[in-house]
Amino acid sequence: MDAFYQSPPSYDAIREKICQIKREFPFVRNFSVGSSLLGRGLFALSLGNVHNACFVCGAVHGMEWLTSLVCLRFFEEVAKAYREKQCIAGLDVHKAIAARGLVVVPCVNPDGVMLSLYGPETAGALRDKVLRIAPDGDTARWQANARGVDLNHNFNAGFAALKEMERRAGITRPAMTRYGGDYPGSEPESRALVQFCEAYRPENAVALHSQGEEIYYDYGPCTPVRSALIARLMAEAGGYQVLEPEGLASHGGFKDWFIDKLHRPGFTIEIGKGENPLPASDFPEVYPRVRDMLMVPLVL
Ligand SMILES: [Zn+2]
Repeated sequence: MDAFYQSPPSYDAIREKICQIKREFPFVRNFSVGSSLLGRGLFALSLGNVHNACFVCGAVHGMEWLTSLVCLRFFEEVAKAYREKQCIAGLDVHKAIAARGLVVVPCVNPDGVMLSLYGPETAGALRDKVLRIAPDGDTARWQANARGVDLNHNFNAGFAALKEMERRAGITRPAMTRYGGDYPGSEPESRALVQFCEAYRPENAVALHSQGEEIYYDYGPCTPVRSALIARLMAEAGGYQVLEPEGLASHGGFKDWFIDKLHRPGFTIEIGKGENPLPASDFPEVYPRVRDMLMVPLVL
């Protein structure tokens, strides 16, 4: 296995990996869906029809960077199988891509990943703000973006209910995790996902998080009927569990917004098991199961 998948991915390493994928598979497209607060690119890779795609994103949360490795490896394997007319998990990738594209945004929150991996000095102009949130300078468990907004609490889905739950939990200001921001879509990273999905209307969307080996598919009355079946098939493919959301996690997330606004299947998959941040050494165990799971929304 490529050395890239054996260590935590810095922003530069992700960017270089995307260039390498583009060089190896000239038929894929690479573009950016926006920029982070600190001006880092929110890179995307796509294959096939972008307008009818399966959309997969990773690292919405800073210390969950293992999901970026999974996104990139999945895209790379799909591109290779497409070129060589091979199957993944017994499924015909060429046929799948002819019918439906694949778009991945491997790192939605590059500033958060850099904070988690390399500390407050990576936050540039926002370093002092970071140090107000983490006065001891320990940002190893940082989940939010560079100004302390949890991107997966910043989407326009049940936002008022989410803020009420935050208040009850004593979360009233920017923090390393779980502060949803002043208003939905206040952050450039969450806005970028919204704008991409509104423009291209993916057929389905999967946000990778860690950890727990769990799949969430439900968000209120707009949840498509087929979502439960897709979730069960993914669970079967990877040996994960399908769960209903509870508490703070149940509003303001990307998959909540995707279901509520586009009325299409949206999923959160909590990859791996252990304590976050999951180490890069978990990748060989975690990846093959997630790959088989991700084939389900790509072919269905
Ligand atoms: Zn997460």
